[in-house]
Amino acid sequence: LVARMRPFTSTIFAEMSALAVQHDAINLGQGFPDTDGPASMLQAAVGAINGGDNQYPPGIGVPALRHAIADHEREQYGIDLDPDSQVLVTVGATEAISGALLGLVEPGREVVMIEPYYDSYAACVALAGGVRKTVPLVSDGDGFVLDRDALSAAFGPNTAAVLVNSPHNPTGTVLGDDDLVEIARLATEHDVVVITDEVYEHLLFDGRTQQPIATLPGMAERTLRISSAAKTFNCTGWKVGWVTGPAELVAAARAAKQFLSYVGSGPFQPAVAHALRTEMAWARDNARDLERKRTVLSDALRSAGFGVHRSEAGYFVCADPRPLGFTDGAAFCRELPATIGVAAVPVSAFVDDTATWQHLVRFAFCKRDEVIAEAAARLRTLT
Ligand code: PMP
Ligand code: GLN
Repeated sequence: LVARMRPFTSTIFAEMSALAVQHDAINLGQGFPDTDGPASMLQAAVGAINGGDNQYPPGIGVPALRHAIADHEREQYGIDLDPDSQVLVTVGATEAISGALLGLVEPGREVVMIEPYYDSYAACVALAGGVRKTVPLVSDGDGFVLDRDALSAAFGPNTAAVLVNSPHNPTGTVLGDDDLVEIARLATEHDVVVITDEVYEHLLFDGRTQQPIATLPGMAERTLRISSAAKTFNCTGWKVGWVTGPAELVAAARAAKQFLSYVGSGPFQPAVAHALRTEMAWARDNARDLERKRTVLSDALRSAGFGVHRSEAGYFVCADPRPLGFTDGAAFCRELPATIGVAAVPVSAFVDDTATWQHLVRFAFCKRDEVIAEAAARLRTLT
């Protein structure tokens, strides 16, 4: 194995999901919902398969989906895009991230990212031969905020791009408007590309709303915005994602993408197009449901004795098991499936600074109520 990939031989999700299966544990580790997306979307996929949509789709994605994405961007955020040159359909957000980084980062150049970072960011920067520069989230009491001093210190003459994930995985943090303005200011000052991973854009809680950096003044021309049907419509296995932005940057991502997968998810693309056009109300109801599940699992963790951090969006809540006597989150997560039949993921898998994040554990709440209730009962046996 080549040196640059040696730190990335397995993913924490595969490891913890395997432990969950081995011990028949409730899997609150890997973030995937255990209910299906809107029925009309599932029907549309069946229709597409039966209707013969089973060969290679166009390299940039089927026209129906590219048009639906462009309309979604305009209706939700007032972003105007040409569906033929400014929208690229990818094999999940994962390939949008790898395509963008491989297409835009020269070897040796730096990519600024928030720490903790989603695991594929580090691996894809390494694949590109780039160098990651991390900016930590810091505690604001019960939640997390961006360390602004570290943010400005991370930018320099060698910066190629800043990769921003909000809503954030693993913490469920939504960056403040002032953070976005500061990132935009620094990106402009240093003339770098902004890549935003907004896969949880429709899963915000407590009245929060998504503000894409691409909508800030002067940012549309330097921002690639990434999202995915996986989270908006509960179809993580379909692997339909996309990246939008200025034609030149989308073309860079496309150049890499065409040799990663060429194309993917043929019959699922028209189904996602259908969902974007007709099922946004389903997505809003789903977000309210997740908000409630967030509260239920956070309360359950608190009453089981964990310190619980504020989750503002997405699928995850981070908890601190030190009050229960566990100081090492990774060791705790390796034991948990066998001891009480619950799987979680250590936040240390998403960081460079393991000392600071060593204790923290991520739990997914995108599960049926009875599953969360059973997990809560098992977690209470820890005290
Ligand atoms: N980015 C983030 C922040 C994620 O949490 C995930 C998956 N949970 C992805 C990207 C990957 O998305 P996809 O499954 O569409 O490839
Ligand atoms: N993104 C999901 C998570 O954070 C899992 C995706 C994966 O398994 N790579 O849990």
